Amino acid sequence: MNECPFCRGELIKKTITHPQSYQGKIFILENVPAKVCSQCGEVLISPEVLEKIQELVWSGEKPGRKAEVPVYDLAKVG
Ligand SMILES: [Zn+2]
Repeated sequence: MNECPFCRGELIKKTITHPQSYQGKIFILENVPAKVCSQCGEVLISPEVLEKIQELVWSGEKPGRKAEVPVYDLAKVG
């Protein structure tokens, strides 16, 4: 499958940074293999890779590094 399911643009293999939320926390995963549409920018991650991400996050394994994540609350914006 090298065609975007949404716009039929070309999918390009890339490694991306993927945010994953779990129990109210955000986990950032780097170097995630994915396919990115060159036209609409849609990101597709294979089920195997998603499974790996979930296993890693659920395992509670110590991350390589920690980053601060800015949080915005839209309810507080006029
Ligand atoms: Zn597309």
